[in-house]
Parts: sequence; structure tokens; C-alpha cells
Amino acid sequence: MTEIATQPAGRVADVQTFRHFIAGEWCESTSGATFESRNPADDRDVIGRFQQGTAADVAMAVRAAGTAQPMWQRTPAPKRGEILYAFGALMAQHKERLARAMTREMGKVLAEARGDVQEGIDIAFLMAGEGRRMAGETVPSELPDKWAMSIRQPLGIAGVITPWNFPVAIPCWKMMPALVTGNTVVFKPSSDTPHCATLLVELLAEAGFPPGVVNLVTGTGSEVGNAIVDNPDVAVVSFTGSSATGTGIAERAGRRLKRLSLELGGKNGVVVLADADLDLATDGILWSAFGTTGQRCTACSRVIVEQAVLDPLVQRLEARTRELRLGSGLDPDVDVGPLINAAALDKVVSYVDIGRTEGELIVGGGRALDHHLATGHFYQPTIFSGVKPMDRIGQEEIFGPVLSVIPVADYGSAVLALNQTRYGLSSSIFTQDVNRAFRAMRDFETGIVYVNAGTTGAETHLPFGGWKGTGNGHREAGHVALDTYTEWKSIYVDFSGRLQRAQIDNQPG
Ligand code: NAP
Repeated sequence: MTEIATQPAGRVADVQTFRHFIAGEWCESTSGATFESRNPADDRDVIGRFQQGTAADVAMAVRAAGTAQPMWQRTPAPKRGEILYAFGALMAQHKERLARAMTREMGKVLAEARGDVQEGIDIAFLMAGEGRRMAGETVPSELPDKWAMSIRQPLGIAGVITPWNFPVAIPCWKMMPALVTGNTVVFKPSSDTPHCATLLVELLAEAGFPPGVVNLVTGTGSEVGNAIVDNPDVAVVSFTGSSATGTGIAERAGRRLKRLSLELGGKNGVVVLADADLDLATDGILWSAFGTTGQRCTACSRVIVEQAVLDPLVQRLEARTRELRLGSGLDPDVDVGPLINAAALDKVVSYVDIGRTEGELIVGGGRALDHHLATGHFYQPTIFSGVKPMDRIGQEEIFGPVLSVIPVADYGSAVLALNQTRYGLSSSIFTQDVNRAFRAMRDFETGIVYVNAGTTGAETHLPFGGWKGTGNGHREAGHVALDTYTEWKSIYVDFSGRLQRAQIDNQPG
């Protein structure tokens, strides 16, 4: 097991070089080149060097996955589940070490990084149980002496392409259902979090997945990602990331009629009605808006509030936001970590410029440049009020610590504003009126709805995914996650010893 690098900032001489994992071996790329991963809280801190993968590396990984797949499929599902269970137990054992590596590599504060690892553990245990469940149906036949049932079978090789914001949870959400159902995996993590991915794959190898069942190839989306999507032997691609990248992948995969699961961008909203507990709403909104520095797929970036409580809510949000402490997520006193990289910071800066022309800046609105923050990608948590539903900052995904407050007249206008977006991942309502809470559960067009809680905090045993432009109808987590990685086979066994024709022999005329 690789030790988490503990290189002090500024020292790059003995930075460790990490490798791909193909056919059970740690190996170098055919490119002979590497790229660096750096700490977003301190750009001088180099975490490691990683293989700059090529299409040839992907072809090797796909061959290894293809060789291992028939054996893995024939391994009894309960046995596969036991290996998943061993992996979950190993993650639990190494939780703190994985969490610290995550905070160092992508910036979220340690408590949240621990939660990210815990999601990985939870899905490993949930899917381990599927090894003994994985139910199909046994139904009566319309003909005598005939048996009718359905079973799931794996698709073959799953390509898993993941973002950096949940660098342990999201790969686990994808790999666990893929593996328990008998698929083998080629995994390409985000180039911002290759160290987290490497640590995860080390634990997968240690848990006992046979060589070739899990393969890791690091490198760029345009080279490694495209090669996975284009490879005819990869039967299913599971992708989480931006809508722009997902659209490109959908076009490529569509040309090959390939199974594709997409989890894309969001513009999640919290509705606050006049009868809400405003202190509770403030807690929920701040946690959802500025947790993980606003970089969760379920982050709240819009608050749609009834005019009657606009002022008291904004006053609360402003006061509490001013108290938030920025810094390295490894510091226990810090509330908000850095953005992932310079490009993400630039994007936030440009949207705040747009926000100044669309709403009223309440708090924040600048880079955080205190001396201890100057070498990281920090931005002040920012709130705009008086935003209109169709304003750009009310519509476009910023993926940073920027919150838009949108005043509305009543519940009806709140529903309209909430649903008036191309996305549909998560939403929430704060109200003490049970009737309006139930109307919201019915009316909100999102894959996840919270009542009297913020927009984040999904648990792994219910389906996770978005409506409309957030996805393409697939779901992660819950037992429905198995649908992405399996084909249904319906089986009829006729033990009558004669020809029996369904819909004909048992019907008049
Ligand atoms: P991204 O830039 O789209 O990258 C996601 C992954 O795709 C990375 O591994 C990336 O590799 C790879 N990639 C890039 N170009 C590719 C291509 N042409 N072909 C194949 N793969 C390619 O997204 P991100 O910045 O990492 O993540 C943030 C986005 O993810 C946000 O929009 C957020 O809303 C979304 N997200 C959605 C959910 C959800 O469940 N709906 C969950 C989490 C995040 P490189 O890193 O090498 O470029």
C-alpha cells in the first residue's frame, strides 16, 4: 500500500511517481510522460506524478478487462459480493488516511472528505449484499407445464469516467454495481484527483479482485476518456462530469449504440416559504451552498424566497457567511476550502462580474488573498440578492461558492422559478405547512427533493440522479444502479413435452 505522500510545500525533488494498474500490474504509460497533481490549497505542494495515458494504454487495459471478464462473470455472485465486502472493510480501516489524501488533493474540509469515503464504504456494503440478492422475477406462465423467469447478466466491460469533486464516492458508486454484477472495469479518474484514484485501486487490489477485473488508466479526457468511449469492446460507459463533456461523450457513444449513463451539471434550488423556520433554513442553505466550496453536484446555488421573509433571511445568510473561515481543509478550524484549480477560480470570478450587473452583491465578491491563502485557489463565499429567475447567475452552473437569492410573490411563483432551468438534480423546501410540503414533493422537477433540509445529503440506498439536462435517465445508488450494468434475460422453460404456442393455443379462435 502506498503511503500518502506528505511532501512539505515547496519541495518537489523526491515527489513519488505513480502508475497505471493493468492486468493486476502497476505499469508505466507507453507515452513515457507524466503529469503532476497539486494541492489546490497550496499550489507549491506537489502530491505526485501520474502516468500520461494514451489510447494504446487504454487498449491494453480493455484487453486485460476482456480476458478477465468471463472468469469474473462465472465467479458466483455471492463470492463477488464477499470481495466487495472486503473492499468496504479495507476502506473503513483506511478511512482517515483516504480522507486526508482527498483533502490534500481536492480541497474539501476533512469532515466532508470523511463523508465522501463513508459513501464509498456504504455503497460497497450495499452492493456486496446484492451479490446474494440481485433479484429477477419468477412469474406464472399463461401455459401449463411452463416456467417463466428473468435474470440479470453483465454487459461485459464497463468504462468508468469520473470527476474530482467526490473522488472516492463517485468511482465507488459506479464500480461497485458494475463489479458485483460480473462486469470488469476500466477506470479513468479526473486528472485533478489521480492520487485518490490510485489509493482506491490499491485497496481494490488488496481486497482480492483478480487481475484484470479492475484496471486504472490516468491521463486526459481527450486521449484516455475518448479512447474508452470509442473502444468497441467497452459495452457500457458510466460518466459523471460537466454537461459539455457529457454531451460530447453521448454523441460518440450514440454512434456506437453504446449503453451510457450520464450524471451531469445542476442548478439546485432551495425554496423558503414565509412560514419557514428561518434559522433552520439558514443552516441548510449555508451547508448546501458553501460546503465543498459550492462544488457539489447537489450544491444549492439558488434560494427562492417568498418576499415576506426576504429581508430576515438575507440578513441571517449574510451574517453567518461573514463568519465562515477559509483555508486548508486539513485545518480543523476551517469551514471552506479552496476551489479545485485556477480555471475554476477564473470561472467564479467571471460569474461574479456578471452577477454584479444582474443582482445586488450582499457579501463576498472577491478572491481571498490573505497571506496564507495567496498560493491557493480561494474565493470568498458570495451572495447576490434581487436575482431574477432567468438571469445568467440564476440559470448557469457556476460550481463555486456563489449563491443567488431570488425573491418571489408566493408558492406558485416559487415552483415556476425552481423548475425554470435546464437541470433537475436536487431541490428543497423549507415550510411548516404539511400540505405545501407535499405539493412541493409532487411539483418539483428534480430527481431528489428534500423537505426542511438543504439540497445535499443523499444516502446510498435510494436512487441518485437528475431529471432533464442533468442526466439521461439512469440512476446511481440504490438497487436500481444495477440496471446500468446489466441486461435482462427472460427465460421460458417448457416441460410439457409438446409444442405450446403462447397467445394462440390458450385462447379461443
Ligand atoms: P469534466 O471536466 O466534465 O470531467 C469529468 C471527467 O471527464 C474527467 O475525468 C475528465 O478528464 C473526463 N473528460 C474530459 N473530457 C473528456 C472527453 N472528451 N471524453 C471523455 N472523458 C473526458 O467535469 P469535472 O470538472 O471533473 O466535474 C464537475 C462537473 O461534474 C460539474 O458540472 C458537476 O455538476 C458535475 N457532477 C455531476 C454529478 C451528478 O451526479 N449529476 C456529480 C458530481 C459532479 P480530465 O480530468 O482528464 O479532463
